[in-house]
Amino acid sequence: PKLVYDFAEGNKDMKDLLGGKGANLAEMTNLGLPVPPGFIISAEACKVFLTTGAMPAELADEIDHHVAALEQKMGKKLGQADDPLLVSVRSGAKFSMPGMMETVLNVGLNDDSVNGLAHQSGNPRFAWDAYRRLIQMFGKTVLDMPGDVFEDAIEAAKDAKNTTNDLDLDADDLRKLVDMFKTAVRDHTGRDFPQDPREQMDLAIAAVFGSWNSERAVLYRRQERIPADLGTAVNICSMVFGNLGMDSGTGVAFTRDPSSGQPGVYGDYLQNAQGEDVVAGIRNTVPLADLEQIDKKSYDDLMAIMAKLEGHYRDLCDIEFTVERGKLWMLQTRVGKRTAGAAFRIATSLVDEGMISIDEALQRVTGAQLAQLMFPRFDADAEKHLLTKAIGASPGAACGKVVFTSAAAVEAAKRGEKVVLVRRETNPDDLHGMIAAQGILTSRGGKTSHAAVVARGMGKTCVCGAEELRVDISAKTIQVNGTSVSEGDVISIDGTTGEVFLGEVPVVPSPVVQYFEGTLDPASGDDLVASVHRLISHADGVRRLEVRTNADTGDDSARARRFGAQGIGLCRTEHMFLGERREAIERLILAEEDAERHAALAELEPLQREDFCEILKAMDGQPVTIRLIDPPLHEFLPSMEELAVKVALAEERGEDPGRDATLLAAVRRLHEQNPMLGLRGVRLGLVIPGLFAMQVRAIASAAARLKKQGLDPRPEIMIPLVGAVQELELARDEVAKVLREVSEAEGVDVHSPIGTMIELPRAALTAGQIAESAEFFSFGTNDLTQTTWGFSRDDVEGAFFSCYLEKGIFAVSPFESIDTDGVGALVKIGAERGRETRPDLKLGVCGEHGGDPDSIHFFHQVGLDYVSCSPFRVPVARLEAGRAAL
Ligand code: ADP
Ligand code: MG
Ligand code: MG
Repeated sequence: PKLVYDFAEGNKDMKDLLGGKGANLAEMTNLGLPVPPGFIISAEACKVFLTTGAMPAELADEIDHHVAALEQKMGKKLGQADDPLLVSVRSGAKFSMPGMMETVLNVGLNDDSVNGLAHQSGNPRFAWDAYRRLIQMFGKTVLDMPGDVFEDAIEAAKDAKNTTNDLDLDADDLRKLVDMFKTAVRDHTGRDFPQDPREQMDLAIAAVFGSWNSERAVLYRRQERIPADLGTAVNICSMVFGNLGMDSGTGVAFTRDPSSGQPGVYGDYLQNAQGEDVVAGIRNTVPLADLEQIDKKSYDDLMAIMAKLEGHYRDLCDIEFTVERGKLWMLQTRVGKRTAGAAFRIATSLVDEGMISIDEALQRVTGAQLAQLMFPRFDADAEKHLLTKAIGASPGAACGKVVFTSAAAVEAAKRGEKVVLVRRETNPDDLHGMIAAQGILTSRGGKTSHAAVVARGMGKTCVCGAEELRVDISAKTIQVNGTSVSEGDVISIDGTTGEVFLGEVPVVPSPVVQYFEGTLDPASGDDLVASVHRLISHADGVRRLEVRTNADTGDDSARARRFGAQGIGLCRTEHMFLGERREAIERLILAEEDAERHAALAELEPLQREDFCEILKAMDGQPVTIRLIDPPLHEFLPSMEELAVKVALAEERGEDPGRDATLLAAVRRLHEQNPMLGLRGVRLGLVIPGLFAMQVRAIASAAARLKKQGLDPRPEIMIPLVGAVQELELARDEVAKVLREVSEAEGVDVHSPIGTMIELPRAALTAGQIAESAEFFSFGTNDLTQTTWGFSRDDVEGAFFSCYLEKGIFAVSPFESIDTDGVGALVKIGAERGRETRPDLKLGVCGEHGGDPDSIHFFHQVGLDYVSCSPFRVPVARLEAGRAAL
């Protein structure tokens, strides 16, 4: 198979093979944009290299062929002493992994050609700067040398000249640096810096391939759920130079503001620099708008190209460009990352601009983004101590103790403390700390700095470029406008406004939540709320899945309904037995005779009836699936240890432990080794006479009362943890009998559907039989995950899940996102077999997965009727159910 592609041979849809960067360089080339010529080594070659440790046999020949063609096109050769062809060797995987992998610029320079370049460009400073960059980048990325070796030498050279500006180093200084760098290479690696350009290129290619498995790349992929086996392509791109003088420069640009989504000119520009200087925040950039003054022609060209790219990709693009002596070159573009708010605003703006359809707009936003928009904001009316205001790079409201290193952030997070990571600038090694922190604050760099880009990708709050902060990492203090902040002090950062406050600022609900609550009109002028309103309304129009909620109080039910829930998919009844009602439950458990048991049940029934009344009223006209009692009874009794101590103490004092002794005996009797697999669910109903009947009577009489008031209560009665149809038949008979009795006694028909949970593998496999007796199924995917995998959630998440995630056994916890191959297969089987028996069987899912975007798409595919999730996830589920239907 072909392993190397000229830029002109690819296009934007070839990301699997050419990586995102390569595919888009190819696309821009074919659009006729000014892209320096080059070629792409495909990710297939990388996969071979990663699995076998060697380059594919044909690769060298193919590269030779493309190098020759490139030399022909450029009219100069690699290593040509008087006018060398220089190239960059750039990584570029299918999914962008900002700063995670390596790039080497100026490949092709050596001790001879550096003089040729100096002569040819008429600019010796530039030539020596290019050479020192090559050795520096090559040393770090290809030869694995520590970056400090080079950075310290540059600092020393600047100190010697009493300057802090790289530009004050002249040709002579840079030539001396090159000598030092070459010596450092020899000292560190035992060999000379390779002088053969083709060897430089081959080593750089291997290093880029190898960087796929660098620690930080592995961590980033896990965080972003990017598959581990894709590999990266390598782009060989002829060099253009932004460091030829003040008429040259380099920059990054966005076609719209990636943090707000507003149209306008956004980006950063740096004169007389090569690309990596911008991102590294080594020197402070100027806003892109200033380029208009600096170089009007390049600015106009760039604006025209940006308009063309946005029209072509029909989305926000981000761009890397370089100006070489007044000529604009495009070095990269891609559909840009953006904040959640920007995603919604851009999607609807593009609809208004006639660029995309509303269906496409819905596909461009995600439930995860909507969830982010529902986070609270800082209270505008609270008293605050403003420390400084900088660039809001990634929105959110974060409070925490100040830490200055990633290690400290990770340590604090382990102790359960909230921290804000404060750095001068971040680099890829800070990834652990950024993940652990609530937010990130940097004193340097703009919206395109490493901190900003990575934070936006993670949905983390970030304020950057806070130049007023004097961050002293070794003293662990910040001086800012007369205030001193030390490690451990609490600060609050607002990633939208860029404000930094001392102390903890209180938060208020987001406007998007106010809109869902019905207290903010979508036409009130808040354009983000208007976008959310449009897209979620469209999702409601196209989705097939209904969205219900898990709620067991009237308040939660009412809120979920305001958030758009179409009923309750899971109303748990066990909390109704807690608090003061515990005693009645204790009496029920301790009852030795029917009379005592009846008395205890009779006490509970009216309490339950009032609970159900409240919920059924809040959900009037909508289905309310009520699950009969599920947990093992000992959960309602005091702990065995506490009781044992109490009884022992009483006995020691010669007192009669009385009821405590009886309770202790009951707790011992009910004690189970594996309560999750013990006496619970339908088993309780069958073993403890009258328990289910009492609950059903409470439900039915609540419904009867509401019906008499002219309301429309719609309870559905759900039997948990059924494994065999016989269990369900027995329970069902009892339930049906009570419903008949109440109907007769009250004189109103309170018949309600009776169904079951499918949460045991046996239930899924025998769903055909179970459906004989069930009018609906609700897949309890929490328990189904536990019973299918054979692990108990509460026990394993801390114990070994992180190890499993690290080893790649799961990409994400199966409790968070449904394991489609295993647990999902059981859901599918259950749905199919159930519907064979009973074509109109209503199918739903309750459990955490009901609010998880990926799982929702799966449930849509297997034909369920609804998902049920916690009230706050309801809007997320509505949006994702709409997206799943497109
Ligand atoms: P990353 O993915 O980390 O951005 P890139 O491969 O895009 O890495 O390159 C790093 C920097 O070098 C970027 O600023 C890019 O624009 C610049 N660069 C890459 N190739 C060239 C080239 N051929 N000429 C000039 N600058 C380049
Ligand atoms: Mg780049
Ligand atoms: Mg369960």
